[in-house]
Amino acid sequence: MKHESLLQPLDLGFTTLKNRMMMGSMHNRMELLDKPYERLAAYYGERAKGGVGLIVTGGYSPNDAGVIETGAPVFDDESEIPNHRLITERVHAEGGKILLQVVHTGRNAKVPLPVGPSSLASRINPCEIHILSSDEIEQIIDAFAYSAKLAKEAGYDGVEIMGSEGYLINQMLATRTNDRTDEWGGDYENRMRFALEIVRRVKEAVGENFIIMYRISAIDLVEEGSTGAEILQLAKALEEAGVTLFNTGIGWHEARVPTIAYMVPRAAWRFAIRELTASVTIPVIASNRINTPDVANDIVASGDADMVSLARPMLADPYFAKKVAEQRPHEINTCIGCNQACLDFIFTDRVASCLVNPKAARELEFEENAAVVNKIKKVAVVGAGPAGLSAACTAAERGHEVALFESASEIGGQLNLAKKVPDKAEFYEFIRYFQSQLDKHGVTVHLNTRVDANRLKDNYDEVIVATGITPRIPDIPGIDHPCVISYLDLLSGKSKTGKRVAILGAGGIGFDVAILLANGKGEGATNTADFLKKWGVDLTMQEAGSLTPEGPQFPPAAHEITMLQRKPKSLGRNLGLTSGWVLRAELDAMGVSKVAGVTYHKIDDKGLHYSVKGENKLLEVDSVVVCTGQESNNELHQSLIKLGVSCHLIGGAAEAKELDALAAVSQGLEVANRL
Ligand code: FAD
Ligand code: NAP
Ligand code: SF4
Repeated sequence: MKHESLLQPLDLGFTTLKNRMMMGSMHNRMELLDKPYERLAAYYGERAKGGVGLIVTGGYSPNDAGVIETGAPVFDDESEIPNHRLITERVHAEGGKILLQVVHTGRNAKVPLPVGPSSLASRINPCEIHILSSDEIEQIIDAFAYSAKLAKEAGYDGVEIMGSEGYLINQMLATRTNDRTDEWGGDYENRMRFALEIVRRVKEAVGENFIIMYRISAIDLVEEGSTGAEILQLAKALEEAGVTLFNTGIGWHEARVPTIAYMVPRAAWRFAIRELTASVTIPVIASNRINTPDVANDIVASGDADMVSLARPMLADPYFAKKVAEQRPHEINTCIGCNQACLDFIFTDRVASCLVNPKAARELEFEENAAVVNKIKKVAVVGAGPAGLSAACTAAERGHEVALFESASEIGGQLNLAKKVPDKAEFYEFIRYFQSQLDKHGVTVHLNTRVDANRLKDNYDEVIVATGITPRIPDIPGIDHPCVISYLDLLSGKSKTGKRVAILGAGGIGFDVAILLANGKGEGATNTADFLKKWGVDLTMQEAGSLTPEGPQFPPAAHEITMLQRKPKSLGRNLGLTSGWVLRAELDAMGVSKVAGVTYHKIDDKGLHYSVKGENKLLEVDSVVVCTGQESNNELHQSLIKLGVSCHLIGGAAEAKELDALAAVSQGLEVANRL
């Protein structure tokens, strides 16, 4: 049987988890919506139904000061128990097990006056800090214990004590954040006391037969963070104090090393988790960038960890575990690590969802808004980019008879270009998933078929036009010069650049092209050793925070690259919050130049002529790559209108400005849900 190790039960002594897959904790902001607990019950219930062995809720603070942000949930009062029962009863009814995560975020709390061990503020939350008194520390420990007791009464199977990601427990442990001289500061024994006391008092409060999972920071990745030896010392002491099993966290939120975005190789952090697993006798759960059953199974089979945490992969596909168990791994909708609809939404004050599965965290909404299918309709979808694929698969899944037309020789649309960008190979998985759904739901796919309006007229009950975009050609004298290349021709391999390159336009595609040219080769993912070296990670874990003294080591760019944009602000401001900084840092480290506030004048044999603040400049380049946005390809739509054929227009064909794959997939899903 495939993925056999993942499917083994895990015996915890007093209880058994049915397999080695866990849904890790994710803050999702659903508590800010109406009917939050009904929604949460549907959200977690769906994942329990999907067969995952264990679920951990998003973080609940044990008191008001420890919340992730103002309005984020607290569990400090028994009046909340009935709400939580909606979740636990639903999960149990589906055959699942669920833990409540208790987190105190300390100085990271987005509240008016966060608390911390010392006055040192975080670079991601720069503000005044209230230094905790010894009494207040005692109260927080008791509050953890009380939340755990409430969790037990609410029917949870256990708690996860959040000791990683740079939250309060981490802040107490590291000299980076703890410069106290009382019994909670100074030597490591003292700095560990907070974590150990929390576990001891939680244990006292909940008694036996209740899971106490501790999420330990397996590697801190910040200056003055813990060393590997300190982490192992803490783990052994926590095991003695009564922890049932360890989950792992990788890096503090303020770390300047990417830990989960798409450019992090799959399972890149298993080297740190392996050490931990070897040092304790209780089970250890591996986390971060584990997104496929092959990778997950290998981690468990090799003994690097006993179980795997799949957090974002559970947003992407609630049925991940069931598909593994039923030997249908090709049907898994794989998390591509983009962060676009999960973390980037959270950090911009929106409710989390998922690019590849926009139903995530909106289970009730989709259920309530779905049209009743009284009649099987003949549906034509034109364009097999993400918008068309999403529409075709959803319509067919709902029982309609669907024909999908694509002028290219393969499905995927622009995703076929995205997957050629170094480290964006995960987009292959999304296309593979769509193919599995087209096959499963019997969509008739017509490749190499450019349809025109006459073919669609009178033959279908519904027509969905998803014909995408065409790259914008800016109005610059000399734009037809032989040195000018469109991103489309570069990424499809039709054209190559010379050594010196100007990139016009610094949106997502401009940055992707810069990364491609800086690396000198496309496709594939960076291997783990190169990734860790580039970002200055100390594999021996002897240095504080496991960062090498010499820091990041990026090779120089393979081309001389200058990126330009007309807006005066710095380049890359509109990129995703959690991945944009990585791209900017990589390109800076590789010596790529960036110029803002540009007026383009002309392109000729000498290169690119432009001015900044009225000063004329010449950039001597061999090639100019044009990444200046897109325009809708709505020719077919116009023809349909002329013929009087009513149709649905979605994706880039409807609106090219700021259209990304997330919007395209969502629109496809929504339109098909209404048929
Ligand atoms: P398209 O993907 O353009 O698909 C339209 C399809 O319709 C095409 O396959 C086309 O061949 C077909 N077609 C057109 N006319 C006809 C016709 N008459 N008959 C039959 N078929 C027809 N977005 C993100 O969210 N995140 C990213 O990280 C990201 N990275 C990107 C990187 C690159 C290099 C590129 C180029 C794009 C990236 N995007 C990203 C953007 C994303 O790919 C697009 O927003 C998305 O593909 C648009 O989807 P769509 O279905 O509307 O159109
Ligand atoms: P974009 O983000 O809109 O960027 C277009 C760029 O072209 C801008 O820098 C713009 O800046 C410039 N531009 C626009 N009109 C111009 C004109 N007439 N002349 C000269 N310059 C012009 O679009 P994109 O980069 O093409 O990306 C398309 C979509 O894919 C976007 O929605 C993007 O979010 C998505 N995408 C996302 C990612 C990701 O990693 N999340 C990666 C790739 C693409 P100025 O006007 O200031 O010059
Ligand atoms: Fe994964 Fe992207 Fe979905 Fe987040 S939005 S869960 S990173 S696929």
